[in-house]
Amino acid sequence: RLDLRAMREHIDRIARNAEQRNAARVDVAAFTEAYDRRLSLDKTLNALRAKRNEVSRTMRKLMAPSATQTTEQQAAVHDLEAQGRHIKDEMVRLEEEARQADAAVMSMAMRIPNDTHPDVPVGPEANARLVKTVRHGDRRRHECEAVASFTGPWQDHMALGQRWDLFDFETAARVSGTSFYYLRREAALLELALIQWAVARCVARGFVPTMTPDVVRVAVADACGFRPRDGEASQSYGVAPMGGERAHASGALCLSGTAEIPLAGLFANSVHDKPQRVVAFGRCFRAEAGGRGRENRGLYRVHQFSKVEMFGVCGPETSDAMLEEFRQLQEELLDELGLDYRVLDMPTEELGASAYRKYDIEAWMPGRNDWGEVTSTSNCTDYQARRLDIRWRSQGSGKPIFAHTLNGTACAIPRIMIALLETYQMADGRIHLPAVLQPWMHGQTTIGQS
Ligand code: AMP
Repeated sequence: RLDLRAMREHIDRIARNAEQRNAARVDVAAFTEAYDRRLSLDKTLNALRAKRNEVSRTMRKLMAPSATQTTEQQAAVHDLEAQGRHIKDEMVRLEEEARQADAAVMSMAMRIPNDTHPDVPVGPEANARLVKTVRHGDRRRHECEAVASFTGPWQDHMALGQRWDLFDFETAARVSGTSFYYLRREAALLELALIQWAVARCVARGFVPTMTPDVVRVAVADACGFRPRDGEASQSYGVAPMGGERAHASGALCLSGTAEIPLAGLFANSVHDKPQRVVAFGRCFRAEAGGRGRENRGLYRVHQFSKVEMFGVCGPETSDAMLEEFRQLQEELLDELGLDYRVLDMPTEELGASAYRKYDIEAWMPGRNDWGEVTSTSNCTDYQARRLDIRWRSQGSGKPIFAHTLNGTACAIPRIMIALLETYQMADGRIHLPAVLQPWMHGQTTIGQS
């Protein structure tokens, strides 16, 4: 379902785009050669097919029961039989060659990243365009005077966690490994509260609540633009049934890195004429190879976390607008929590394989004394739709075209928890809980209240 002909036609532009996105290099010469070879093999095979049919027709005529066969005719039949065998052998050989050329073209095509929105800044993360910065000092004053008047020194979430017995990384390291954790007491309730609150807000906006499988086929993850099999660069954990012989018959499995994958899979092989919006809670599993260091301390970069994720399907005319809608909702959620944040239009090297355009939002984390990414939303245009066969039929029009898909974080729990704990700390170390979360906190308004 990839448009190989269009890829061949625009291969130079595609190679430049891949380079700007810092994606795997597109080998223009190899792609062009394999594609052209495939075309020329097709032509040769068609010609051979026609020849073979002609030979069979002539033979049938010569061998018709009514025909009296002279010695010359018998010789001609022998000759035609030899020709037929030769054509068949040649076709078998060329068909194998065509299969190989096909596989070469497809494997190169599958690695070609999505196009890029013309307004996306070019380059690395540092080139992100600042869309806006929002500060909520007044909102926090309204929430809790002791929080608003606190000016430091700021403790980070690990120090606060230790004080109030909120996390247990040591036991988790023994039970699961480093960068796993237990959440305890108010932190455990806070995770559940954030999930309930974020899902409720999305459902109020018309998103269909969904619970997804956290184990997905590698092929589905691939189709979404993740590359579970990418060796060193892979962020995925594979899943293999224990007990050798019971290897999974229907294809390799991996742990989902984000509910985006099972949500995209939910729409595979479907046709829509109305925009679809779904929201899911999912556990995310990430190998995060090489992602340690002080800036990733504590909950910031972990191997497993909970996330509420939005996913949308719509027609090509409205996907830009749906991206803005997702971003708007993300901003409103952070507004409700009273966190300070900034919105970034992400540059080419941050788009991954699937995004045509992507906004990240970073929240202020006073204990880190830095901004930290808390949400991401992307318009993947038809990248995933082509690979999963998700179609769109405009009202009144005939043939369905490929839909556009979008995804966005509603609430990624660990980093929101960091921002909340650090932002809402008071001089005495207690932590205020924003009013919107209190209904799910069993009547508690403060962490550290006696
Ligand atoms: P992504 O799906 O990579 O765009 O991530 C979505 C959000 O999940 C990010 O904005 C972070 O808030 C959060 N996140 C991503 N990776 C991790 C991780 N390893 N540990 C904790 N949170 C993460």
